Amino acid sequence: MSVPAAFLDRDGTLNAPVVINGRPYPPESAEELQLLPGVEAACAELSAAGFRLICITNQPDIARGTQDPAFVATLNARLKELLGLDEVVTCPHDDADGCSCRKPKPGMILDSARRWDVDLSRSVTVGDRWRDVEAGRSAGTRTVFIDRGYAERAPAGPDLTVVDLKEAVPWIIATAEPPR
Ligand SMILES: [Mg+2]
Ligand SMILES: [Zn+2]
Repeated sequence: MSVPAAFLDRDGTLNAPVVINGRPYPPESAEELQLLPGVEAACAELSAAGFRLICITNQPDIARGTQDPAFVATLNARLKELLGLDEVVTCPHDDADGCSCRKPKPGMILDSARRWDVDLSRSVTVGDRWRDVEAGRSAGTRTVFIDRGYAERAPAGPDLTVVDLKEAVPWIIATAEPPR
């Protein structure tokens, strides 16, 4: 039987980003990995409500040569363990690579949904940037925008806008009720 999933962006959704000139960047050391407030409880609640927890993350600094893929994998494994995620899926590419996984493309969501037998119509995608919202909509999920006030374009038409993941949890659970 297929299940709902929460497709969660990583930096700025689960853990604190490093903000430079109003824009978010991934942590560059294990010491910089810091969960955002309420994230552990939010993940636990979603999991208890029957959601798969799948982190989908663009890490273009791998393609740009400024982040070590092994370090990214280490941070991902740590988050997976801390939050009880089912998996963390990474796009290591940049725009020029023309891959099908870099958000706003829905590739990571669609592939993961197949692996975990996810019902996309009951699922949600949560993120702090327009690429997250766009990817979630393209994949056929509901979308939540975490507005962290960055100096960049806001996403068009998310289904819900919140200040953090925890605030979105009751809505995510309520909207995933199976049709009757
Ligand atoms: Mg983010
Ligand atoms: Zn990619």
